[in-house]
Amino acid sequence: MTVWFAWTAAAEPLTNRQAADRLAVAVYDGPGSAGKGVPRVRALLGAVTNLTVARVSPKEIEDGALKRFDVVMFTGGSGSGQAKGLGTAGRESVKEFVERGGGYVGICAGSYLACSGFSWGLGLINAKTLSPLWKRGTATVKMEMTDRGREIFGPLPGELDCLYYQGPIVGPAGVEGLPEFEPLAYFRSEVAKNNTPKGIMVNSPAVFAGRFGKGRVLCFSPHPEQTKGLESLVTSAVTWAGASSSRQPEAGAQESAVTDDGFWKVGVARSNITPTNSLWMGGYAGRTRPADGKITDLWLKALAFEDAAGHRAVIVSSDLLAIRASLHRRCLPRLKDKFGLEPSQILLTASHTHSGPMLVNRPGGLSAFDEPERSRIEQYSAGLADAIVETTGRALADLAPARLAAGQAETGFAANRRNNAESKRGELAERGALAGPMEHSVPVLAAYGPDGRLRAVLFGYACHNTTLTSASDAFYKWCGDYAGYAQAALEKRHPQATALFFIGCAGDQDPVVRGRLELAQCYGDMLAAAVERVLSAPPILLPPALKTAMEMVTLNLGEVPTEAELKRLAGDQTPYVRRWATNLLADLKSGKPLERTWPYPVQAWQFGGRQLLITLGGEPVADYALKFKREFGPQTWVAGYGNDVMCYIPSLRVLNEDKPPLASPLWGYEGCQALKVLGLPALRWADDVEDLVTAGVRRVVSETGTQ
Ligand SMILES: [Zn+2]
Repeated sequence: MTVWFAWTAAAEPLTNRQAADRLAVAVYDGPGSAGKGVPRVRALLGAVTNLTVARVSPKEIEDGALKRFDVVMFTGGSGSGQAKGLGTAGRESVKEFVERGGGYVGICAGSYLACSGFSWGLGLINAKTLSPLWKRGTATVKMEMTDRGREIFGPLPGELDCLYYQGPIVGPAGVEGLPEFEPLAYFRSEVAKNNTPKGIMVNSPAVFAGRFGKGRVLCFSPHPEQTKGLESLVTSAVTWAGASSSRQPEAGAQESAVTDDGFWKVGVARSNITPTNSLWMGGYAGRTRPADGKITDLWLKALAFEDAAGHRAVIVSSDLLAIRASLHRRCLPRLKDKFGLEPSQILLTASHTHSGPMLVNRPGGLSAFDEPERSRIEQYSAGLADAIVETTGRALADLAPARLAAGQAETGFAANRRNNAESKRGELAERGALAGPMEHSVPVLAAYGPDGRLRAVLFGYACHNTTLTSASDAFYKWCGDYAGYAQAALEKRHPQATALFFIGCAGDQDPVVRGRLELAQCYGDMLAAAVERVLSAPPILLPPALKTAMEMVTLNLGEVPTEAELKRLAGDQTPYVRRWATNLLADLKSGKPLERTWPYPVQAWQFGGRQLLITLGGEPVADYALKFKREFGPQTWVAGYGNDVMCYIPSLRVLNEDKPPLASPLWGYEGCQALKVLGLPALRWADDVEDLVTAGVRRVVSETGTQ
């Protein structure tokens, strides 16, 4: 393996805890813990499964109560007041607890308490305040995560607004024998009222972490627990800090303090769709014969949801290149007749493996094949429609009570293929020098039975499922590629659970290094490890309320080639250009006007009033996911390749980059050539493509009641 894999070690699980172990958090409640901190933190952590939260008094701490916990939290108020409340023996108990592996999370006053440099401080972290004048006042300030911060807190790009209330402004304390702290976020703005010193706050650590003995210490200067949208930082902090705990759960220990939001119903089913007869493969144009064996089986899986009011939705995911409109249209009336499902309640998607079977696509799309080959492809596609309907039926029949939880992690094996030449990508990744835009989030939706066992896990990633290329020995063998390996790894680890994959806005995203089978396995393991990080953290529960909305947006096609141009291109040396021009000329000759618009599906599902899943059709570029995460919040999930894959969907940026003259030899495909490959009757989409997609998404999202 190349050195690049050493770099990915940063993506290893943060914790070895199993989902079944409950993380126990003690929140200090005593002198010095004033205001909303304690009730707020208890409410936040109480809404999380697999986590117990309890208040502890100074007396209980002194009596050794912390040994029943993994993490102790000190919230806002007064650091010196908390120290005084704890007393000498209590302070020693806290230090001993952390030294032995316990976690410590401080917010504002709790962070002052953890600092070095005060006679009353615990000295748990090698940081000290920069000025004795601390009454800086209250304000909403800006902070920005560091890379290390994003590993712990998830993908939070850009400057974040956070409530600040006279928290510590710190620098290194230089205490010998105590490891240096790591900044997880920096302040990017300042508040300096009451004659406190100016110019020391911007670029000083707003969130910082360190080790004390075997334990982990994490300090917030501002107040994420009281900032809308940043509440999850508290959960993530507790999870990270608790990962070093070696507490042995006591027999008959107190049950979870989880607030019971009630149950969903969830059902799963699967069908093996590995072709059993000779069949051509879909994805790469360079193949010259049908598949000759398999590396892995290909699966079609269905996951059905029903909320407390009986509203349902079903996602069908598959180890296939793409589900196109022709297949979608075949299934919709049958799903409606048999199960009463409307189009908004059905999401058909494929992992975009380029090592799956060729499927029927558009009229004339199989003209390159001879009759027996074509009829085998048509038969397989018809069987697939049957399998989608039948598997959906079994998933609905399997509906049973479950809790749903949402989370998000990151893994970094996707690279923007337009901005990083393939031959240099591995080296650029090693140097951390890959050029964007990239979207590395791993959305995770987990379904647990009433017994707490994982029944299903739906996860996503935005990367072309094309690790296997013509360079691989497996080029003519069925394989789920990285997405198939990730699902298999999760199902191996959770044998009672079904793992399902959806692909994100991967139009311009490729695996960093490609070609070898072991790379596909490696990426699958990386993705599964990211999902495990979410599963092993205390999950955010979703109340059983489901909203579904869908719309067919009408996109405009851009410039049409003239007949003279088409005649010239019909003699082009590139086969797909020849085929495209010849087909369009035939259409013109038959008097059929060329289509000027194209139907485009957008869909939004909202789970529990909290978790939004936006699904776009086609192969959208990463710009779309980044845009909708900015607009609807960083926790938003954006799937691509949903319900129809007619073509790549460029952002306006990519569309313009792909207009001649091209400034990069890597440009021109997603925004232009792809329309010829996929047979659309235009040179490119019209300039309003991004506006129309965005407007459609805003409409379906607002239909789900999401702000
Ligand atoms: Zn593609």
